[in-house]
Amino acid sequence: MNRPWCLPLLAALASCAGGDDSAASTEATACESGPVQDVIDTRLSLDLAQLTGEARISACPERGSGQVTLDVSGLDIRAVASGGHRIESHVEGGQLRVPVADDEQVDFTVDYAFAASDKTRFDGWMPDLGVSFTWPYYCGNLFPCEPGLVDGVHFELALTGVPAGQTAVYPDSIPGEAPDYMLGFAVGDYEKMDVGRSDGGVKISAWHFPGQAQAARDGTANMVDVFSFYERTYGPYSFGPVAGTVQVDWGIDSWGGMEHHPYVHVGKWDFGDEEAQNHEMGHAWYGDGVRIACWEDFVLSEGTNTYITARALEQVGGPEQWDYYVDDFLTPTCTGRDVNTIVLPDQTCNEIDFVHHDLWSLATYMKGACFYEEVGDVIGPAALDAIIGEFYQQNVGKAARMQDMIDLIVARSGEGDRAAIESAVTDWLRTEACPEDYAERCRARQERGGR
Ligand SMILES: [Zn+2]
Repeated sequence: MNRPWCLPLLAALASCAGGDDSAASTEATACESGPVQDVIDTRLSLDLAQLTGEARISACPERGSGQVTLDVSGLDIRAVASGGHRIESHVEGGQLRVPVADDEQVDFTVDYAFAASDKTRFDGWMPDLGVSFTWPYYCGNLFPCEPGLVDGVHFELALTGVPAGQTAVYPDSIPGEAPDYMLGFAVGDYEKMDVGRSDGGVKISAWHFPGQAQAARDGTANMVDVFSFYERTYGPYSFGPVAGTVQVDWGIDSWGGMEHHPYVHVGKWDFGDEEAQNHEMGHAWYGDGVRIACWEDFVLSEGTNTYITARALEQVGGPEQWDYYVDDFLTPTCTGRDVNTIVLPDQTCNEIDFVHHDLWSLATYMKGACFYEEVGDVIGPAALDAIIGEFYQQNVGKAARMQDMIDLIVARSGEGDRAAIESAVTDWLRTEACPEDYAERCRARQERGGR
C-alpha cells in the first residue's frame, strides 16, 4: 500500500461415513495449527455479473475448537458442503462457523453472494471503478476468510461474468503464502505491455489504460533491474513465474498503489512514477512475502519497503529518492503539517484500530525508511542488504515483528556499532518527535563498508 493519500459452536458429530453434519477431514496434511486456526488453501470462483462466489477451502481448525470460523461480514451464505454433503453451518455476527469432527485438515465448499462496493467505501469489489480492494481487513466482503495477519493462504482464482470487451487481470493461482488482502483483481479496457523478464526468470508485464503507454514505459523504465536487484539481494520471488503492474482508477484518490501480487495495482495518476511502481513490487519481499504479525508492526512492511525501493533504484542507476522522501513527506511529518506518531508502538499486538490509527500515515513509511538509511550509514548499506536478505529468507511466507528485525540487525553488527543502532531505533522508531536534525540525518549518505 503506497502512501495513504490523500485508508464466532456447534456440537461436533461422529466421522463422515454416517452422513453427519461436520466437514469431512482429509488425509492431505496433518494439522500443526495448534492454538490458532490455519486456512491453507482458498480456491475462489467469482461471477462478477451475478455477484456470486464459490470458495473451496482447506483449513486446519484451532485445536479442540470443533469448528472452523471465517469472516463473512459482507457475504450472503447460500450453502456449505463437504465431501458432497451439505453441512449445517451457522453465521453469527458476520462469522461463519463450520463444525469439524476432529483437529485434522478439512475441505469444504461455501456458496455465497457478495455485494458490490463503491468508491465511498473501498472495501470489496467496486464495479464502478473496475477494481477490488480489501485492505486492511475487509476480505470478508469478497470471500470467506481469516482476516488476521498471522495466517498466510495459497489462493486460486477464476473470474467469470466479465463485461464484454473488457479485460480481467488476475492471478489464477498464487503459490506462496499470502495475506488475505493481497488477493486482488481489476477489470477494464486494458492494453498489455511486456516489461521484460527478471534475472530470476519472472515474466513482468504492465496493463494500462488506452493512451497511457508512455506512462507505463516511464513507470517501468527500471523495473526489471529493480526486480532482479530484489531477487539477487534479498531472495527469490515467492508468488510465481509471472508478475506485473495494473493501472487502476481509484477515483479522486488514484495515487499510490496496492500490493496485490503478483499483479500489483498502481493509481492512474502515479502509473508513470518509478517510486510508486517499484514500491508495490518491493512488497513481495516485505508486507506480502514477510507479513507483519501485528498491526503495530506496520513499519516492518512500509518502512522496510520504502527503504529497499530507494536502495534498489539507486543501485540500478534509477532516480534518487531520498531528497523526494525528505522534502515531500518527512518534512511535513516532522513539522506538524502532517500526522506524526511513534511508528513502532509494539507493546501490544493487534490492539490498535488500525484504520483509524496514526500509524497508517506517511510517518511510518518515512521514519521507518530513515531508520534503515541511518543503520546503513553505520554498518554500510551492503551489510544492511545482507541482513534484510537474511531476514527475508528466514521469514518469507510467515509473519514477523519489527523487533525481530532490530534484533537481527544488532546481532549481525559489531560491538562498536550497537550504540549508534540503538539511538537510531530510539530516535526514528520509538519517539514521536522527529530528531532535531531529521533532514540531514536521513538525507546524508556516509559510505562505509562499501556500497
Ligand atoms: Zn506500501
